[in-house]
Amino acid sequence: MTFSAVIVAAGSGTRAGPGQAKQWRVLAGKTVLRWSAEALLAGGAQKLVIVADPEARPQLDEALDGLAGWTTTAGGATRALSVQAGLAALADRAADEPVLIHDAARPFLGAATIVSVLKALDDADGAIPALPVADTLKSGALDSSVVTKPRNDLWRAQTPQAFRRDRLLAAYAAWTGPDEPTDDGQVVERHGGRVVVVPGNPMLMKLTYPEDFAMAETLAGRARITRMGQGFDAHRWGPGESVWLCGVEIAHDETLIGHSDADAGLHALTDAILGAIGEGDIGDHFPPTDPQWKGAASDKFLIHAVNLVRQRGGSLVNVDVTLICERPKIKPHRAAMRERLAQILDLPLDRVSVKATTTEGMGFTGRGEGLAAQAIAVVETPA
Ligand code: MG
Repeated sequence: MTFSAVIVAAGSGTRAGPGQAKQWRVLAGKTVLRWSAEALLAGGAQKLVIVADPEARPQLDEALDGLAGWTTTAGGATRALSVQAGLAALADRAADEPVLIHDAARPFLGAATIVSVLKALDDADGAIPALPVADTLKSGALDSSVVTKPRNDLWRAQTPQAFRRDRLLAAYAAWTGPDEPTDDGQVVERHGGRVVVVPGNPMLMKLTYPEDFAMAETLAGRARITRMGQGFDAHRWGPGESVWLCGVEIAHDETLIGHSDADAGLHALTDAILGAIGEGDIGDHFPPTDPQWKGAASDKFLIHAVNLVRQRGGSLVNVDVTLICERPKIKPHRAAMRERLAQILDLPLDRVSVKATTTEGMGFTGRGEGLAAQAIAVVETPA
């Protein structure tokens, strides 16, 4: 079914505690707003309007980077005005097209709910997902005596709520207050419309208080997987005065020969990260035939690999590098290497390991012909 959608994301969400407004908070690698927008677009919305503060446009562009099919419009002073601004931005659509109004702060929207509200709209003026009230309801002030209220026909309304756009606009035009509507269903109800309930989903919880975010992070984490990648690299010793290893320059009576700075530690680690996300190897991304990488500092390669992880909504968990050589002695430089890697990768120090071993005189590293490095990277991404 053809439908459009509006996400209301103009609020400041002060109840969620200090810091960023809740639509910009990151859950498992992407903003709360992006979770909602992706769900509506994946659910088939032909056009999506995000009602947001125009001053937050850079944040919005960053949050929805790479996503197609959305536009934005400025919000109003109240939720009701923001919804109407969103509806106005859909004026190029058919007047009676179904429109879903969704709160940005309900990130875990599934396709089943979208299908349910759209289907129920066939013979209603509005369709809303809702959950029955499970707790016993009490009325009264805190620390005073209370009375129990019946709950048998009460529902907790969620979003997205579905309406025909012209019907919802007419209802808003007729709203006289003095109260402010807290959802769109009540606007249509008061205008004499028939609003029906479809089964909601506990996953559609609205993120309101700081503790909600901890629970949401756990829920979001279920849809994530852990990936591991390994990398290996070796470079030959040649004449020189210093060597780059794990992003640190060490004075030495030889250097490693290579097209870039020949930092085998960073190369092995870059390959490990690329391997974890199935992105080929360092040579695919930075061909040694390309003159622009001649003598390049290898932290560029590593940063590129980490950015590819982040673009997938992923994050690095930990890395472990082993350098294999007889000389130079690595131990005096290990702390500096870990710190440099932690800085490049933006990881806490205890998630970065650098180890070293000799091969007791055996093989090419033992004979001092070259240095080898191997690395493992653990990455977490959306499933
Ligand atoms: Mg290399």
